[in-house]
Amino acid sequence: SEPLLEIDGLDIRYETKDGEIHAVTDASFAIDTNEFFGLVGESGSGKSTIAKSIIGGLDDNGSVTAGEIRFRGEPIHSMTERELSERIRWKEIAYIPQASMNSLDPIMRLDKQAVELAKVHTDWSKQRAIDRLTELFEVVGLPGERIYEYPHQFSGGMQQRAIIAFSLFLEPSLLIADEPTTALDVIMQDQILTHLKSIQEEEDVSIVMITHDISVIFENCDSMAVLHGGQVSELGDVTRMFDSPSHPYSYLLQQAFPDIRHPKRDLSVIEGQPPQLQDEVDYCTFANRCPWSTDECVESRPPLQAVGDDNQYTSCIRYDEIEELGHRSPENTR
Ligand code: ATP
Ligand code: MG
Repeated sequence: SEPLLEIDGLDIRYETKDGEIHAVTDASFAIDTNEFFGLVGESGSGKSTIAKSIIGGLDDNGSVTAGEIRFRGEPIHSMTERELSERIRWKEIAYIPQASMNSLDPIMRLDKQAVELAKVHTDWSKQRAIDRLTELFEVVGLPGERIYEYPHQFSGGMQQRAIIAFSLFLEPSLLIADEPTTALDVIMQDQILTHLKSIQEEEDVSIVMITHDISVIFENCDSMAVLHGGQVSELGDVTRMFDSPSHPYSYLLQQAFPDIRHPKRDLSVIEGQPPQLQDEVDYCTFANRCPWSTDECVESRPPLQAVGDDNQYTSCIRYDEIEELGHRSPENTR
């Protein structure tokens, strides 16, 4: 069947006073109906840029310069602001921005905010709006009667849950959550992830979970895309990538994945700086840090290609050597 969302050959650039930033280059991936999809990558890899482009919410100096974004087969990157806000945003695709802690109106009771939202976007009665919010509060693990409170009466973790509840209010088919747990403590993180998982099941919604923490993806998602320097380096089933990564970047991430005896570590384990993205990105953006890169890796941009006939794709030209290379000591042959 047709994917819910398809990102196809996406390029995104930002204009700055020092020139262009090529934030995303030729990114492709697809999300199926009722899927829990992870988008992972280090800081600056382009995660939020891609997420914002999906709902037409790029910063003013950013634009999609190539490729397509299709929702149920329909191109949405070329929709007008009006079409997007009337048909897509919140009703079909809900986006919880990074650091969204203050996105609720602090001086309006939550039940009133729900009634307002329903008035603008639906023909629901007041009671239906209240029932819907109450039901969603329970899905995210908040007592239903707390909808009659103000956001400032909630702790950080409870506010984040309330934001998730509101994002689902208009019954979207896709929820994009940009680092929803990063600001929270570990216990709260786990609780929110558990709730997101049950939301995906109960609300019949696909979820794109954006994170820099590979363990969050390995533990929760069905499929994933790994980003570095605005390129998709690996894409496919989470279990397959966990068992046999096909890109040096995901190989190194997988190696850093802790066993239960060790504390969680994140992408900072990979040393070195990602490249500046000021010029045309016609090289592998991991090559300068890759232990196994060759001249060929910087002579042209490696395309995303299928690994065998399973659901796994890589942009590494040496993908069939990864396992063997991993067992040897690092050698940079450039
Ligand atoms: P983080 O994990 O820190 O949130 P990210 O993966 O979400 O990072 P983005 O915010 O998408 O990364 O940024 C991708 C690249 O685009 C980075 O090089 C960033 O500096 C640049 N960038 C983002 N927004 C703008 C902007 N408005 N103007 C210029 N450059 C920008
Ligand atoms: Mg971000």
